[in-house]
Amino acid sequence: MVLDDLGTSLRSSLDKLQGKTRLDEDDVEEIVKEIQRSLLSADVDVSLVMELSSSIESRALEEEPPGGTTARDHVLKIVYEEMVALVGDSTELPLENQTILLAGLQGSGKTTSAAKMAWWFSKKGLRPAVIQTDTFRPGAYDQAKQMCERAEVDFYGDPDGDDPVEIAREGLEATADADVHIVDTAGRHALEDDLIAEIEEIEGVVDPDRSLLVLDAAIGQGAKEQAKQFESSIGIEGVVITKLDGTAKGGGALTAVNETGSSIAFLGTGETVQDIERFEPSGFISRLLG
Ligand code: GDP
Repeated sequence: MVLDDLGTSLRSSLDKLQGKTRLDEDDVEEIVKEIQRSLLSADVDVSLVMELSSSIESRALEEEPPGGTTARDHVLKIVYEEMVALVGDSTELPLENQTILLAGLQGSGKTTSAAKMAWWFSKKGLRPAVIQTDTFRPGAYDQAKQMCERAEVDFYGDPDGDDPVEIAREGLEATADADVHIVDTAGRHALEDDLIAEIEEIEGVVDPDRSLLVLDAAIGQGAKEQAKQFESSIGIEGVVITKLDGTAKGGGALTAVNETGSSIAFLGTGETVQDIERFEPSGFISRLLG
């Protein structure tokens, strides 16, 4: 079956259906409860969990299992389909010339993700360049430069510059030979008006093909406000979830996906430039339910 890595409680609820051809309300309720428990502990927003539960419930009770399908397989298929609808497909990323702008709070993993994404594009045969416009965080320049060296990709930054918009403009010129421009921006500890004004200005200068919001997997309800703000200021086409190698399951990021009407582009799974994966629904779903 598609979901081979289910949590033990959900698996045992499903296993109780072994041999059954029909589901009754108690069976469905038990399964839905297990799913709710897993998703809520993975930081998925309550209202998203409730929506998903009611779709699973009504489909499991109303839809006839196709001939030869056991009740267990039928409900598992419904759960999988509804989970896919919840997490969405991965953000479309054509392998062609493009400019990508990264947004997010300080510490979310933007700089690391910029270098990782550049590494990823380089492995796809493109020539990426990272442009570091973060003049706010001490060390951002050195960090980006070192990571880009490790990734063996082009890099532009100005350690003495204090105007991010100017750096963005110069960076695009200096890296004109690159196919994919990844523009890293400064974060702040919290959403502040000057941060939003700055990223809007940078967006105006670089005219990105897509802007991605970088979120730490451990983000909970804070995802909503951030997503709203960045969506209304620059428009968000995709989300990058970082630090999935830790214990957090990243369900909070789904709030941002929902809020921005976007999708998940990449997952960050460690501190080195190779620790990046393209988002793929089934692995993420297994993790949320596991
Ligand atoms: P920025 O302020 O948004 O640019 O964040 P950074 O890229 O500097 O990342 C903040 C911290 O998180 C750094 O110590 C990174 O090494 C770490 N980090 C970023 N992505 C990941 C990840 O996927 N896994 C782990 N374990 N650490 C990460």
